[in-house]
Amino acid sequence: MWTFEEALAAVVKRTRRAAPELADPAPALGRVLDQEVVAGADLPPFDTTAMDGWTLTAEDLAAGRNELEIAGVLAAGGPMAARLEPGRTLKVMTGAPLPAGAVAVVPVEDATVEGNTLRIPKLPAPGTHVRKRGEVFAKGTTLLRPGRRLSPADIGLAAAAGYPALAVSRRPRARLLVTGDEVVEAGRPLGAGQIWNSNGPLLAAALSAAGADVNDMGVVADKTVFTRTAIQTALDADVELVVLSGGVSAGDFDLVRPVLEELGAEIVFHKVAIRPAKPVLFAVYGRVLVFGLPGNPVSVAVAFDLLVRPALRLMTGQSPALPLPVEVVLAGAVANKGPRLAFHPARVRAVEGALRATPLAPRGSHDVLAQATAEAYLVLPGGSAFQAGDRVPAYLATPETTLGSDPGGGPGGIEKPPGSNK
Ligand code: AMP
Ligand code: MG
Repeated sequence: MWTFEEALAAVVKRTRRAAPELADPAPALGRVLDQEVVAGADLPPFDTTAMDGWTLTAEDLAAGRNELEIAGVLAAGGPMAARLEPGRTLKVMTGAPLPAGAVAVVPVEDATVEGNTLRIPKLPAPGTHVRKRGEVFAKGTTLLRPGRRLSPADIGLAAAAGYPALAVSRRPRARLLVTGDEVVEAGRPLGAGQIWNSNGPLLAAALSAAGADVNDMGVVADKTVFTRTAIQTALDADVELVVLSGGVSAGDFDLVRPVLEELGAEIVFHKVAIRPAKPVLFAVYGRVLVFGLPGNPVSVAVAFDLLVRPALRLMTGQSPALPLPVEVVLAGAVANKGPRLAFHPARVRAVEGALRATPLAPRGSHDVLAQATAEAYLVLPGGSAFQAGDRVPAYLATPETTLGSDPGGGPGGIEKPPGSNK
């Protein structure tokens, strides 16, 4: 059986970048930058004032001159004033271009006006409330590099650098197909032996959170003819990714692998030494990546976070494929008795500078409640046991993972963690 590292490496090796497209600033939010952003001008573009106040020259500061002749007013956006002579001051509004010769600004509330004379009880140091041209960045400075997932602040930064639009990676196109005779869409009544489809909605959400355009094909019955037609349709759609749920285990009606083989897909791996999600399958069909995720809902989520999401990150130009785990301190004991590498759900809180992880005790790989409660996966080697206070690596929830919420993200709807050790 493949190790997790081997499986991830195989996914990385088979994944190709998606081409860039041009997005306006607003649609670029959450997309992955596919160009360098280089400052088109200095910021600030001119020496300016951080306060509404009065200008001071170096000569007046050096001479300790507390009374100055008022020479006029400058508004933000106004024309550049002539050089400021010693002994004179200009009233300047925040953002107004400072005249040459002005080296400090005293706020309006710290000075008094009498007729045409300004009195300054306490002179500031040179540089006070002055924003120097280019002090944030100089024209030509590289500000953002390709591969960055754009935040609102990034979009603001790019606009401050003069960019009306940004090249971003194209969204990978994905087809989603859920298998199972027993699976019915939520909203329909549950018949005998039926279960509501939770993998479809989870995967559709996870795919789009990870930046993909998803076409959800719904549920297909465990019959070869239906499975073949549905998978063929998915593979022949103009997509980079096909994600399947269920039907990859050892059951009598697990048809995904034989159908993929019959259609000519190359099975890269089937079964990985991880817990949960051991039966996970990865195949390629031309340039289409195919993930067959085990039907158990937690297996679906874990396999998505640890194998599918890395492929989506690479397709959109993000690296590394899987961000490194961080170290957390255990708040309770946890063990992985089995031989496989375990991704164990935990809640995480920042306490006195350390991330403290409370291991959950899920009922199994069908425990969707534990999964939604979790904020991290503890990475536990096979045959390991840990005590409170031990340090273990963990993959933290991010907006791209399927997990509950960001650590410390505030109270969720789930008050009492199911099976919590505490
Ligand atoms: P399978 O991998 O097809 O053998 O399914 C494993 C388990 O996951 C079974 O208990 C299924 O009923 C359950 N399951 C499969 N697909 C779904 C789904 N879309 N939503 C919820 N549970 C599912
Ligand atoms: Mg099934």
